[in-house]
Amino acid sequence: MSSQFNLQGVCILGSTGTIGVNTLDVIKRHADRYKVIALTANKADEKLFQQCVEFNPLYAVLVNADAAQRLELKLEQAGINTEVLYGVKSLEKVAGLDEVDQVMAAIVGAAGLLPTLAAARAGKRILLANKEALVMSGDIFMKEVEKHNAELLPIDSEHNAIFQCMPVHFDSGLQQVGVNKILLTASGGPFRTRDIDSLHNVTPAEAVAHPNWVMGQKISVDSATMMNKGLEVIEACWLFKTEPSMIQVVLHSQSIIHSMVSYTDGSVLAQMGNPDMRTPIAHAMAWPQRMPSGVEPLDIFEVAKLEFEKPDFIRFPCLAMAYEALNEGGTATATLNAANEIAVDAFLNKQLSFTNISRVIEKTLEQSKNVEAENLQIILDADADARQVSTDWVKKLEFNR
Ligand code: NAD
Ligand code: MG
Repeated sequence: MSSQFNLQGVCILGSTGTIGVNTLDVIKRHADRYKVIALTANKADEKLFQQCVEFNPLYAVLVNADAAQRLELKLEQAGINTEVLYGVKSLEKVAGLDEVDQVMAAIVGAAGLLPTLAAARAGKRILLANKEALVMSGDIFMKEVEKHNAELLPIDSEHNAIFQCMPVHFDSGLQQVGVNKILLTASGGPFRTRDIDSLHNVTPAEAVAHPNWVMGQKISVDSATMMNKGLEVIEACWLFKTEPSMIQVVLHSQSIIHSMVSYTDGSVLAQMGNPDMRTPIAHAMAWPQRMPSGVEPLDIFEVAKLEFEKPDFIRFPCLAMAYEALNEGGTATATLNAANEIAVDAFLNKQLSFTNISRVIEKTLEQSKNVEAENLQIILDADADARQVSTDWVKKLEFNR
């Protein structure tokens, strides 16, 4: 039977991660619509091998050269003719291939920026999970998307929800289309109600145990500090071309509403669903159509009641710092992002206490010069400098613990 759809070629940047695996799960349900062209990972060669066996992509990329060599050997032994590439530049190459229509940007952290930019420059449909790319270089990134006629669709569940609640032509300005507020929901993570004086000795295992979502380690810690919500406020400003004052963070611990848009006529539109990333992934891949994602329908009677609270900026200083960096503009958000990555990594490696994550970021922001983010090199330099400064602060704070 011939398909009613034009087969879309997909490249997944970060296919071995949580978002990558969920994307492949959606693709598996729609073999008549999507073909996997390229899969990429940092160094997880065994997992990437399994994915190559199942999806038979044209290319597989590993950043780590040794891991790539191992993958090549395994594929050869298994008689699979996927071409193996390695290195950072290869990520950019596969994101821009002619056979690729959609690029799932699901690498974690700043490492996702250049390959996601390559997808923009090649005019692809970008399914954006890698929020750090926009946090670092929102202005430049959005300009590249526009210049090369790329399509940018949000995967982050909140931004995907906002997108679904927005009128089509929100690009003309939110006031223009009658929006008066974006209500960005947040679960509050695992420490929303924990005794604030006990936060300094929480363990990495406690911090990554998110009550509603299964996610990679870095974003799980970001959810526990609420830096994730801070990064998402910045992401929302760029995606929806608006000001921080237009965005209200709403604590909604149940994660049933994924965000809302409030209009001048008093209407508030919400997008709801079970907390499962396959919904935004399927939405963005099929947009403007709809297709099954494998997610169970929401049982509204089981939910019964929806709860909302205001965010607590004392408990969650990272959220306040993200707003400050956003208001400062320039390279401040790239600095914030880099310091956060270093601090979270140190926390996961048990070199830093949970409450010192925000201190490392605060000290790094204080010590870094904020300059106009005129070009990519300035942003990459700010990122590198902030990594140096924050690594020093990790050592200092660790020593005094
Ligand atoms: P993850 O840690 O599970 O996976 C990360 C992926 O990126 C892996 O495939 C890994 O191999 C690859 N990777 C890691 N470091 C790399 C490097 N230096 N170079 C190249 N590739 C590298 O992370 P995740 O939870 O899937 O999150 C991915 C992105 O999506 C993050 O930006 C996160 O904020 C965003 N996001 C995730 C969720 C979620 O539910 N997991 C929700 C919203 C947004
Ligand atoms: Mg989110």
